[in-house]
Amino acid sequence: MYITDIYAESSFNDEAIKEYLSEESFKKLKSTIDSAIPLDSEIADEVAEAMKKWAVSKGATHFSHWFQPLNEMTAEKHDAFLSFDKDGSAIMEFSGKELIKGESDASSFPSGGLRATFEARGYTAWDCTSPAFVKDKTLYIPTIFCSYTGEALDKKTPLLRSMEALNREALRVLRHLGDNETTKVTTTVGPEQEYFLIDRELYEKRLDLLLCGRTLFGSPPPKGQEMDDHYYGRLRLRISDYMHELDRELWSLGVSAKTKHNEVAPAQHELACIFNTANIACDQNQITMESMRTVAKRKGLACLLHEKPFKGVSGSGKHVNWSISTDTGMNILSPGKNPAENQTFLLFMAAMISGIDKYQDLLRFSCSGASNDVRLGGDEAPPTVISIFLGDELCDIYEAIENASEVTKKNSDNVNMGVSSLPSFKKDTTDRNRTSPCAFTGNKFEFRMLGSSSSISRPSFIINTIMAEELSIISDRLDKATGDKKEEINSIIREIIKEHKRILYNGNNYSEEWRIEAEKRGLLNLPTTVDAIEALTKEKNIKLLSKHEILSESEIASRYEINLEMYSKVINIESLTMQEMAEKSIIPAVESYCGKLARDISAVLKVGGKMKSSEDKLTLICHNLSGASSSLSELCELHKNASKTDNFVEKAHLYKDTVIPAMEKLRAYCDTLEKLVPKSEWPFPDYTDLMYRV
Ligand code: ADP
Ligand code: MG
Repeated sequence: MYITDIYAESSFNDEAIKEYLSEESFKKLKSTIDSAIPLDSEIADEVAEAMKKWAVSKGATHFSHWFQPLNEMTAEKHDAFLSFDKDGSAIMEFSGKELIKGESDASSFPSGGLRATFEARGYTAWDCTSPAFVKDKTLYIPTIFCSYTGEALDKKTPLLRSMEALNREALRVLRHLGDNETTKVTTTVGPEQEYFLIDRELYEKRLDLLLCGRTLFGSPPPKGQEMDDHYYGRLRLRISDYMHELDRELWSLGVSAKTKHNEVAPAQHELACIFNTANIACDQNQITMESMRTVAKRKGLACLLHEKPFKGVSGSGKHVNWSISTDTGMNILSPGKNPAENQTFLLFMAAMISGIDKYQDLLRFSCSGASNDVRLGGDEAPPTVISIFLGDELCDIYEAIENASEVTKKNSDNVNMGVSSLPSFKKDTTDRNRTSPCAFTGNKFEFRMLGSSSSISRPSFIINTIMAEELSIISDRLDKATGDKKEEINSIIREIIKEHKRILYNGNNYSEEWRIEAEKRGLLNLPTTVDAIEALTKEKNIKLLSKHEILSESEIASRYEINLEMYSKVINIESLTMQEMAEKSIIPAVESYCGKLARDISAVLKVGGKMKSSEDKLTLICHNLSGASSSLSELCELHKNASKTDNFVEKAHLYKDTVIPAMEKLRAYCDTLEKLVPKSEWPFPDYTDLMYRV
């Protein structure tokens, strides 16, 4: 197969637009897309007609405004291209108005008080910067989603706004650096998506997987990930067959699936796309997650995008690779051959360093969520403390600038394997760091904190905004500078490093040593979503987001409420699921096994025999069974108390501080019981079945 033959065949990309639109309208549309000027309403009809013709040729009968509300989902409503002409005959129609704006009675999307149900009108508006696509007989049109009063109710709007803010502020700094050619700066993002694949039949036998996307019970299998034999391991046939079909589907939709491999945990895999403009990367990641699920279903598999489907093995993240590039083709975070002399690079990096240090809390918030709480800080996941890995070479350069000393230039050596038939190759100037939440990886930052199920929008728009702010401070200062600009820039860098170097750490972020060191340095540690979300109530953050017009005060307040409510809802469902599984499956199964065991023991006793080990086992099981029963009652009580609490802040705290510990207690008893009871008596598939029988 030639990938190029099918690539983007279902995407209304430039090529398709060119084919279906007049040259003049194409130019107008392109300049709208490239320079963020409003779309000429006259050509909207023409674009709609072209889009419809193209979509129909791809088998579409419907169109849908496709948006990303403030839950972890995408939303769509399908309308047929159906209309009647004057004579009452059916025709296929799609107008510019229908393309640009949609209206929906969207009162059941989370709005966090922004929209009372009596004014439930919401609007969707076409985002022409992200290509429309055809899937399953429907033309999908990427849109933003806002309230009747114009407040953003989605994830796309702040991202788009932040890209504009960063463009504006980056251009100002570039001018100060003597760059007069660049006219546009874009945020580029390349997400790496981790996921688990398990057998569908087994998946359907577990209520926790069905309802919560993760296991709430389960004792560790005899073999975990300690052999390191899954990471980059050979792809089993069933998995590689799945991956082929997924690639094909993604390619045809114009999603640039590039790298795939087995990940650290058994049954865990990864897919990375080639980076793209942040907004498009964000949409494409949503498409990727959806295709992962649907292809899995077709193949008799279940794709788990939850951050921590299994206790005790690595969870799934979504690494957000982030950089900024200019329309002149420069990647601003590329240090070039001589980083010490590259002021543009050093200044932008310094902006990043100060921004991340100042807004640790916002960045931490951007990766929060009940499901990621289970992952962060455990088995091979970044800790909940933000720091930056720069690598030795860059740290040396900044240290030299800080001390106004000479940079000792390190030439990277060749790697020679001592086998003459093997090529000798130049090694990178620094090694990688896989433990840092924000690692500089040579020409981009890799943010490793985000969870696998989340949209990349939140961290992307937060990083963009932080950068825009730091760059604006730098420009404000350079605007006023009278002396030598180069010198002034060096002073800025020096001051930033002096003030913010505490955020730099090249060591092992998973170590206890770092936990202690980070605390000494006064870095924030916000262990859970409930802690992290307070970032949205801090004056400095509200100021930041409203200054750059990313989110208004009311939009921030709504997100505060929505995120806390979402948190409580997730824990609520998990707790109820646990209660049901324990009460209806686990406890009855163990009781019935105990009965059987007791009968066997007494039968043997009757004939004068003895079953000592079984008696001991029965005692142990009964002990854990009564522990399970009492912790179940405790959980029910605490749950009732939390769920009936009205105040959403108090409620989230109750779930975190009372319900979660009770869930853990119940789980511990049940997981012990699972080990004591024969496999045939256990009411659902165990970890070995789930992780090893794909
Ligand atoms: P690794 O697992 O080694 O970190 P991958 O190849 O899996 O690397 O993923 C690297 C990701 O970074 C890819 O999605 C790639 O497209 C992306 N990337 C590369 N350059 C940039 C850039 N300039 N801006 C944003 N993302 C980038
Ligand atoms: Mg990778």
